Amino acid sequence: MTETHNSLVVGVDIGGTKVAAGLVDRNGEIKNQIRTPMVAHGEAGDGLAAVVSGIDLLFANNPTARTLIRGIGMCAPGPLDPATGVVINPPNVPCWRNFPLADEVEKVYRVPVKVENDANAAALAEAYWGAARGYDHIFYAGIGTGIGTGIVCHGRIYNGRTGAAAEGGHMSIDYDGPRCGCGKPGCIEVLAAGPAIARRARSKLESEQSPPSIILDLAKADLEYYDKIIDISRARFKAGDLAQIDLDRIELLRVQYESEIENAIVNLRTAKIQLLQMLNDRTPVDQFDVTGPFDFNDSLEPLDRYRDAALAARPDLQAALQTIQQSQTNHKLAISNGSTDPTYSAWYTHNASTNNPNGPQTLGVSVNIPLRIFDRNQGEKKRTQIDIDRSQQASDATRAQVFSDVDTAYELVRSNVALLKPYKEKYNDQALRVRDTVTFAYEHGGASLMDFLNAQSDYRQVQLAYAQLLGSYLTAEGQLTLAVGSEKLP
Ligand SMILES: [Zn+2]
Repeated sequence: MTETHNSLVVGVDIGGTKVAAGLVDRNGEIKNQIRTPMVAHGEAGDGLAAVVSGIDLLFANNPTARTLIRGIGMCAPGPLDPATGVVINPPNVPCWRNFPLADEVEKVYRVPVKVENDANAAALAEAYWGAARGYDHIFYAGIGTGIGTGIVCHGRIYNGRTGAAAEGGHMSIDYDGPRCGCGKPGCIEVLAAGPAIARRARSKLESEQSPPSIILDLAKADLEYYDKIIDISRARFKAGDLAQIDLDRIELLRVQYESEIENAIVNLRTAKIQLLQMLNDRTPVDQFDVTGPFDFNDSLEPLDRYRDAALAARPDLQAALQTIQQSQTNHKLAISNGSTDPTYSAWYTHNASTNNPNGPQTLGVSVNIPLRIFDRNQGEKKRTQIDIDRSQQASDATRAQVFSDVDTAYELVRSNVALLKPYKEKYNDQALRVRDTVTFAYEHGGASLMDFLNAQSDYRQVQLAYAQLLGSYLTAEGQLTLAVGSEKLP
C-alpha cells in the first residue's frame, strides 16, 4: 500500500438540478469542490454523463488527485438500494429507473463506489465530523424543500431491510392531510417542510377579511368628504358669501389630503414587498394582499396565564428541560455502573464438612461484598453531576428569559389596550361629532373659517392616532404570541 497518508475520496451529491462533487481527505476536509448541472430527464446515460463530467471537472482542477483516489461516495435522490448501489425510481431524476449507478461509475473510475440516500449520508457526516461527534447512536433530521432523516448506530448508517429505514419525512401524521409527493396523505414532509410553512402562512393571511389599509381608506374618505365642502364653499364664493382668500385656504388644505393618500399608497406597497420577501413568495405585488381584522381585543387575560402557557409551549425551554432529564439519567447510569452488589450464597451438605467434621447435614450461608479499592467510575459520577448542575443553570436562565419575553410583550399589549380604549369609547365619536357640528355651523355662517379648518384637522389627527395605535397593538400582540410560543393566545 502506498500513499495511504495522503489518499483521497470523491464525494458526490446528485440532485434534480445539480451535481456537486468534492475531493475529501482522510480527515473529512474538502480540498476542492465543483458544481455542474444535472440532466434529470431523457436517457439514463445522459444523467450518468452529467455525473461523470462533474467528477472529471474535479480531476481537471487537480490532475495529481486522480491517482490518490481510493473510493467514491455518492448520495443520490431516493428511493435507492445502498447495498447494490441501484437507484430505483426517484421522482426528481426520472431518467433513472432501476439504474445501477454504483456499478456504472465504478466501470469508469475503477475504484469502489458507494451510493447512499442524502439524509443518511448527512447523518454519517455529522457523526464523524459534525454535531454528533462522540455519540454512539444518532438521529439526524434535515429540513429544507423536503425533510430527510437518518439513523447512525455505532458509526454505521442504519439502512434496515430494504434500505429505506428512517425515512422519517414520509411518516403520515394526518390521514386526511394533503397528498405528499410520495403518494401518501399527510406525510410530515408535506406538512412541515419549507414550502409547507410558507403555504400555511399564506393561507392564514388570506383567510382573514378586512380592508387592505385602514390609513389609505381613511385618507380616501377624508378627501371625499372634503371635496363636498369645497363644492359648497365655491357656491358660497360665487354668491358673494365667501372671500377669495378664504376659498383659497380651503382649497389649499386639499393638498394635504392628497399627499396623505399618496403616502398611504407608498407605505402599503413597501410593506407588501417586505412581507413577500419574508415569505419568499413570487406573487406580483399588485396581486398580493394582506387581510386581517384591524381591531383590538380589550379583554386581556391575567399575566400569569400567559406565563403558564409559555412555560408549557416554548420550544427552547422544553429543550433545556430535556437536557436536565438526560443528564440526570446519565448520572444515575454512572452511579449504577460504579456500584457493586453484594452476592449471597447458601450451601448445604449431607457429608461432614471441614468446619464441622462430626456432623453431616450442614447448612451454610455466605454474603460477599466486593471491596471498593478503586471505583473507576468516580470521575464519570463527578462529571455527570457537573452536567446536571450546568443544565439546571441553563434551564433557569432560559426560564428567566421566557418570563422576561412574556412580561415585556404583555406590558406592551396592556399599555396599547389602555390607550386604545378611550378612543373606541369616546374620542372617535367625539371627533366626528365636533367635525360635523362645526362644519354645519360654518356652512350656515355660525362658525369662523379658522374653527372649521381646525375641526377638520383635529378629526383627522384623532383618526390617524387611533389607526397608528391599532397598528402598534397588533405588533405587540404578535410579539406576545411569539413569546408565549404558541399560535393561539390564552
Ligand atoms: Zn411522503
